[in-house]
Amino acid sequence: MFLRSQRRDLMTPRSNVPMRWRDEVSRILITKAELHRRVNSLAAEIERDFAGRELVIVSLLNGTVLFLADLIRRLTLPLRLDFMGVSSYRGGTEARELIFTKELRLDVRGRDLLLVDDILDTGKTLACVLAKLGRLKPKEIKTCVLLDKPSRRVEKVAADYVGFEIPDLFVVGYGLDFAERYRNLPFVGVLHPNVYLNGAESMTSAAK
Ligand code: 5GP
Ligand code: MG
Repeated sequence: MFLRSQRRDLMTPRSNVPMRWRDEVSRILITKAELHRRVNSLAAEIERDFAGRELVIVSLLNGTVLFLADLIRRLTLPLRLDFMGVSSYRGGTEARELIFTKELRLDVRGRDLLLVDDILDTGKTLACVLAKLGRLKPKEIKTCVLLDKPSRRVEKVAADYVGFEIPDLFVVGYGLDFAERYRNLPFVGVLHPNVYLNGAESMTSAAK
């Protein structure tokens, strides 16, 4: 669901991008304040829905780091945390094959799971991870994503908790990267075409 305040944010003019990032970010899509408010309300929803239960949070690396840190410090219910490493974007804006770079360590059999990811795009990542987690026989799996691009969906998968629905744009910041850059931006912004037109190739090798 799109709140009117979120929609207004999509119109944030380019001039709102801090000078430091103007060549690389064409506009801010979701401000730091909007992120803060929405993550608080997501945490409140989760807290309400899982009241009285112990939660195992499985978070997908690396894109969830900022979102997860903000989300879990708002939760007071008992929880355990584990990570899975999944990589689908390798230095570009087009999806490639899914690679597991870190496996789960906690035993999740019979547990209430909350799977956290940064963005739900084609749905291939979530569908694949959900199938993998399902084989471990948890009691229940709920999913939480910061961003959702419903127009790009290929797999029939939806998240139970969605921070913001966004249009089909490649975004960076607040944990989301392009070639491992821009994760540290405190806002979610649209990647400037200059960045990928100038060649992901050189950026990837520069990052090595
Ligand atoms: P899906 O498998 O749903 O197509 O893609 C999910 C993954 O693709 C996300 O976890 C994220 O890593 C990456 N992704 C999809 N859209 C974007 C985007 O707009 N920006 C960034 N930085 N990553 C994206
Ligand atoms: Mg990711």
